[in-house]
Amino acid sequence: FLVSFTVNKKHLCSNHPSITSTNSPHLSLHSSLAEMVFDGHLSFENIEHMAKDFGGRYRFMPSAVLNPKSVSDISSIVKHIFQMGKTTELTVAARGHGHSFEGQAQAHGGVVINMESLRVPEMSFHTGKLPYVDVSAGELWINILHESLKHGLAPKSWTDYLHLTVGGTLSVAGISGQAFQHGPQIDNVYQLQVVTGTGEVVTCSEEQNSDLFHAILGGLGQFGIITQARIALEPAPKKVTKFSLTYKLTAGKIILYNPQNVISQVTWIRALYSDFAVFSKDQEHLISSENSFNYIEGFVIINRTGLLNNWRTSFSSKDPVQANQFTSEGRVLFCLEVAKYFNLEDSDHIDKDIDTLLSDLNYVQSTLFLSEVSYVDFLDRVHVSELKLREKGLWEVPHPWLNLLIPRSSIHQFTQEVFGNILTDTSNGPVLIYPVNKSRWKNGTSMVTPEEDVFYLVAFLSSALPSSTGKDGLEYILTQHKRILNFCGRSNLGIKQYLPHYSTREEWKAHFGTFWEVFSQRKSIYDPLAILAPGQRIFHKQR
Ligand code: FAD
Repeated sequence: FLVSFTVNKKHLCSNHPSITSTNSPHLSLHSSLAEMVFDGHLSFENIEHMAKDFGGRYRFMPSAVLNPKSVSDISSIVKHIFQMGKTTELTVAARGHGHSFEGQAQAHGGVVINMESLRVPEMSFHTGKLPYVDVSAGELWINILHESLKHGLAPKSWTDYLHLTVGGTLSVAGISGQAFQHGPQIDNVYQLQVVTGTGEVVTCSEEQNSDLFHAILGGLGQFGIITQARIALEPAPKKVTKFSLTYKLTAGKIILYNPQNVISQVTWIRALYSDFAVFSKDQEHLISSENSFNYIEGFVIINRTGLLNNWRTSFSSKDPVQANQFTSEGRVLFCLEVAKYFNLEDSDHIDKDIDTLLSDLNYVQSTLFLSEVSYVDFLDRVHVSELKLREKGLWEVPHPWLNLLIPRSSIHQFTQEVFGNILTDTSNGPVLIYPVNKSRWKNGTSMVTPEEDVFYLVAFLSSALPSSTGKDGLEYILTQHKRILNFCGRSNLGIKQYLPHYSTREEWKAHFGTFWEVFSQRKSIYDPLAILAPGQRIFHKQR
């Protein structure tokens, strides 16, 4: 399956039908769809970009791309392919923003539906007691944020990066630093409209067609194409304008620079730990406390010097003199990252509230860093890094990412081996590590997690340098990931992959465990010919 990122023409893949064979899906598609009329349009040309994703490693050329303008466009094409039955190998992949890592939104020789072109319904807000917004599933979360703020509202649960579509993240789960409190994004949806694998348009919720509703949420696109979602909202922090002072270290002296008025709605805090046991104890304490921070994450720092100096451009140290003397001495460090949202009426007690929360923690005292930012700047923080990386040509490189969910009882064994033996000298990108508490999550979605209530998300967000054969190259990173996975398997750590990727049925069965029976039975009900989301490689369309 693995295709070099340098190859950008169509690919043939041994497990997939050849698109140039005599039974070409391309040809049959052309002829069978020639009579169809769409509100949007179906393209057979210039569609190479639909065979790309953020991972940059898999490229499967589709035969056609549908740019839908209505739900009935999506329903018609799926129904048409369904009615062709086993006479065709055609499959259909809904594509959100194409930010998968392993070709999950691609359809070799099939039809890709470009969900971002579906602009209906227009975002529509309901501002009652339980506020929500109805959106098209191809909408980007960043747009929902901007529109919701006009109503003083915002979604409750996010991903770290907002340039992803609603359909794309609801198909996986959508986990970030708010999930300890609100659950993942799939727990914050009231209703969906879905086109199933037979082309039927169905509305579902907890009350109506609830089996389909649960199947779709975290269902890896296997049971239907989400066309519309009703997303739960909450009041957003209001704008507070504050006079801000930032300090900078110049020629060994700490000087005040850039005093200015800023919109401040979030206090964003980082603090370092050198001992994982102390770090995780504090994280677990914070996720279980009432009135905690609004966002709780953390990350691992491997072999980084000058890091605190970098932070000074956007964070202020609570104790600049001591912080300046702090050195990592080559140790692996763990950084707690938390945020507290506030409103004008909180201004007189917010600092005290934060001090109280921090006073329970045992970070290295000299390494406390704070920043006051607007709510949008906080939530859209990864986009700032994206722009910088794009400028350097380092965004469109292969991204071999590995996301794991590790039960609390195994996390110490995991970190000892991974950060003590496997990833010792470099990490090739951020490594996130933070716990969530499943007892606050809803049951019954398709997402599978470890069996314990508290588990950690550990995300190895690596970037590979395209031509490197060294430690920053793709092969090296993939080998490290394999070592991590082998260790987890050998030691029976009870982990689950998040954004899972497997190539055999046996591996998928092991991933889903006892849930496999339900998952595969639902597939036979909602997508009996296995037309949808072939890029996940769980089920294969048979002729
Ligand atoms: P695509 O990649 O286009 O599609 C993903 C899958 O969903 C495919 O199988 C596709 O067929 C299916 N799909 C897409 N749209 C629909 C639809 N409307 N109906 C049914 N199926 C559909 N994830 C987190 O949980 N937390 C994070 O903090 C986080 N941060 C990220 C940061 C970056 C920079 C990136 C690149 C990814 C991050 N992710 C995170 C992962 C991301 O949530 C998933 O990869 C997500 O699926 C991508 O959304 P997309 O719109 O690009 O979907």
